[in-house]
Amino acid sequence: MPRPLDDVKLVFLDMDGVLYKGERPIGRPGPVIERLREKIGKVLFTTNNATLDRDAYVKKLRRMGVYADRSEIITSAYAVALYLKRMKRATVFPVGERGLINELRAAKVRMTRTPEQANCLVVGLDRKLTYAKIALAARALFAGARFVATNADRTYPTEKGLMPGAGAVIGAISGCTGREPDIIIGKPSTYMLELGLRIAGVRKKETVVIGDRLDTDIVAARKLGVRSILVLSGVTRRADLAKSSMKPDFVFNNLAEVVN
Ligand SMILES: [Mg+2]
Repeated sequence: MPRPLDDVKLVFLDMDGVLYKGERPIGRPGPVIERLREKIGKVLFTTNNATLDRDAYVKKLRRMGVYADRSEIITSAYAVALYLKRMKRATVFPVGERGLINELRAAKVRMTRTPEQANCLVVGLDRKLTYAKIALAARALFAGARFVATNADRTYPTEKGLMPGAGAVIGAISGCTGREPDIIIGKPSTYMLELGLRIAGVRKKETVVIGDRLDTDIVAARKLGVRSILVLSGVTRRADLAKSSMKPDFVFNNLAEVVN
């Protein structure tokens, strides 16, 4: 029976529901991450959550006792910024929080406040979404902008339970325009993982994805063709797993169990 971390050199580690829920750490992530690094080498922290930029994640992880460098963090906000930068002529109308705006700015992506001037509408979780913002986003799409989403998670886990995710913001915009996103950068798309593989210079067969969601983490791992480990410390419960046709390679109660 192969063990989950045999021959692994790179771990894509999901954060929400694996290391913490909101501001509450799950177990003691600090020593667990150290152990994981000793065992396998490189850990890339990945998240679909676009509300914080990479520097803010470095700080958040430090509050949880985890020491990480900015270069070890891949968020959907960062990945979407790189995607738009590659498009060269993107002019973006953003709907999202500061983390998304900061990453777009850092990548020198051109932004506009006039929806009709945008050729891309970029949408992430926005916990200050208003009717006025939905109207502006709709105007960008009515004028022909490409619909780019950081991620489409319906929910994310917090200390108060599940809260509406970026999927809720997309739903509001889709509801009035009839348009679905043309591209979704976050998991289950493999975009962030492929970016990480290039950064780390590691082969797929030496790579594992660890996450708490079947419909994002595990689907992305499957699509990319890498090993997957589901932890039950976040949104997926054992009963959900039993009902799902999507089966991870390994299942553990939490990250500490994976590592030990
Ligand atoms: Mg998660």
